[in-house]
Amino acid sequence: MSAQSSSATRLRTTAVEPDEMVPSRYAQKVGAIDVLVISDGVLPIPSRTIAHNIEPAVRTAWLEHEFLSPEMLEWPLNVAVVRSGGRTILIDAGMGTEFPDLPKSGQLIHRLEAAGIDLASVTDVVLTHMHMDHVGGLLVDGVKEQLRPDLRIHVAAAEVKFWESPDFSRVSMPPGFPDALRKTAKQFVAEYGSKLRTFEDEVEVAPGVVVTRTGGHTPGHSIVRVASGGDRLTFAGDLVFAVGFEHPDWFNGFEHDPEEAVRVRTSLLRELAANGSLLVAPHLPFPSIARVAADGDVFRCVPAMWDY
Ligand SMILES: [Zn+2]
Repeated sequence: MSAQSSSATRLRTTAVEPDEMVPSRYAQKVGAIDVLVISDGVLPIPSRTIAHNIEPAVRTAWLEHEFLSPEMLEWPLNVAVVRSGGRTILIDAGMGTEFPDLPKSGQLIHRLEAAGIDLASVTDVVLTHMHMDHVGGLLVDGVKEQLRPDLRIHVAAAEVKFWESPDFSRVSMPPGFPDALRKTAKQFVAEYGSKLRTFEDEVEVAPGVVVTRTGGHTPGHSIVRVASGGDRLTFAGDLVFAVGFEHPDWFNGFEHDPEEAVRVRTSLLRELAANGSLLVAPHLPFPSIARVAADGDVFRCVPAMWDY
């Protein structure tokens, strides 16, 4: 048998059914720690949500400059899985499937499975905050039953407190969103209250995986810093959006305390620009792994090269 035909045979026997043709998972090593970014899909939102403290014409000009529609955006939504010290930590949980008019999001559960991650292997969940696009995946039918009984869900005490009586006076969300966010947060605490492990300012959930409360986007908003062997990566939650590099002072419509959000966003971007470490954020384009460059008083997002 010639070498050619034997390799043809091998090709045929290893042929597999195609997975989704657009990749939805990306693995990144941070020293000895494994980080996997998984896309929950994309969320359609009105483009005006990206900034509500500027002239509409200025916003439209920025969107057009980025080849984005001034009407509607497809907002990326990513989560991460981190493995360290024998623990498997899910950071945020995506949108879930409760909102049928958002069919392109809520993909997390089957994409976790496609990535070989069994829900029963998840030891910890970290919630950057309790907006529905970050907790909804755990409310999908059948998910709770697959999770371990000793699952720990880490969230800032201030976040849980905030959702007891949330203040929406400073947001600029599309109609219907405040009610949906209130309802989902309430439902989440009702379902998972007994598994919540709240912290005040900071908690180390596994070796080299530290959750720190920043506030801003919501009062208990938190980020996750991953550090091992000199490598560092920060999961920035909703402190950083695509527009936030060039315009860190634009108020995103989902920010409950926009001035504080600007302050903590700018401070995090300065830190990352100074140390050159990796950034991941739920609403940056998949896989959202980037570095931050200083550009005068503002910043540039420099996507990391894919390492195949
Ligand atoms: Zn979000």
